[in-house]
Amino acid sequence: MKIDVHTHINSTDPEQLENFVKTCEKSETIACICSAGPRSDHEYPANDATLKAAKQYPEFLIPFAFVDLWDKIDADVIDKFAEQGFKGLKCITPYYPYDHDLYMPVYEKAEKLKLPVLFHTGAFRPSKKDAVTRRPLLKNMNPLNLDRIARSFPDLKIIMAHLGTTFFRKEASELIKLHPNLYADLAGNGSWMAIQPAELASWLGSCIMEVDSTFAGFKKLLLGSDAYFTAPGIMLDAQKYYELLLRRIGVPRDIIDDIMGKTASGWLF
Ligand SMILES: [Zn+2]
Repeated sequence: MKIDVHTHINSTDPEQLENFVKTCEKSETIACICSAGPRSDHEYPANDATLKAAKQYPEFLIPFAFVDLWDKIDADVIDKFAEQGFKGLKCITPYYPYDHDLYMPVYEKAEKLKLPVLFHTGAFRPSKKDAVTRRPLLKNMNPLNLDRIARSFPDLKIIMAHLGTTFFRKEASELIKLHPNLYADLAGNGSWMAIQPAELASWLGSCIMEVDSTFAGFKKLLLGSDAYFTAPGIMLDAQKYYELLLRRIGVPRDIIDDIMGKTASGWLF
């Protein structure tokens, strides 16, 4: 089975849920599903809907809880998520940068409870909600904000969604190579389609060797599609692009298998 660490529940319609699960079944994929909270550009159901869907299809869906990193947060909410059965956390649209002091207890709990955290990084489309919240989203969700978190919580598994997007590719790649507990997916808005094999090879290669036959940097990638319940085909597109991209670069089969699910499976099962 493959594991797609980054998909979104954006509907509570039972037919759409069933259709999404059928795509998982057909492609032999387990999907980590999460809401993206109340301040994203689309409407998402709340965490209880994520849990309900995952409990209905436990073979194919793994629930991640959206954590509302706002101007106040009680870290005990993370214990509650773990008790409820969530297997990971999703962070996006924080009030402060991800590495603010206020959020450190949240990550400390996640590390103790062995809950991987998926952080949105990079591009975020402007929306009407921005004028209400007045928060700087690109700055708050710059991959560099994950440096402090990775250093402070070495046993926390961190997934940098979108590898920083086109805004921060180089920094994002250096960061995942630097921190053993920091990983990335190539998901989002077709941005993985924009990545050329030679570029990815140079970002994730060794800065010393011209030809990095260890492919060590590639061990820090995970399959993540950013698919939606209403658009499950994105899951299939992502898998196709990951495969072609990685094969074109010459990444060995065993590392591709790690990326497509084996690495994440070690954290989630
Ligand atoms: Zn996403």
